[in-house]
Amino acid sequence: MKKDCKLCALINEDHFNPTRIAKLDTGIAFVNFDQTYLGRSMLIINPHYDSLLDIPPILTQKFMEDVKTLAKAINKVFQPPTINYLMLGNTVLHAHCHIIPRYPDAPRWRLSPLLPSSAEYTMQTNDFYSDIAKKISLALRV
Ligand SMILES: [Zn+2]
Repeated sequence: MKKDCKLCALINEDHFNPTRIAKLDTGIAFVNFDQTYLGRSMLIINPHYDSLLDIPPILTQKFMEDVKTLAKAINKVFQPPTINYLMLGNTVLHAHCHIIPRYPDAPRWRLSPLLPSSAEYTMQTNDFYSDIAKKISLALRV
């Protein structure tokens, strides 16, 4: 755990978090607060690595398999026509991958999913996050 890292703090929380989906082999999956794209989630690698370049090769392979496992579960629950994968590392230096289901009736179809400002995020209630997390978690077990 890296001191002052927001994602290390998140994956090591010991209280209930409605956005937490499940622990996978290489990291912890969470529903994203922004639900502009229903089912948007992320896999945060555990332990801490600053970026993809810092992850040892064997773990990189396992991490990407876990990304696929999470994406398959999201696909099963929400059935989006396509899924985007983002690893940016601009604001938080802890390797994680965003899994973003895309829908024709959601903003920026066929374009980058990045919204111009966080003011455009679609935030939801804790019950909503918890419900999505539960559905994805169940789909992970099948
Ligand atoms: Zn960290």
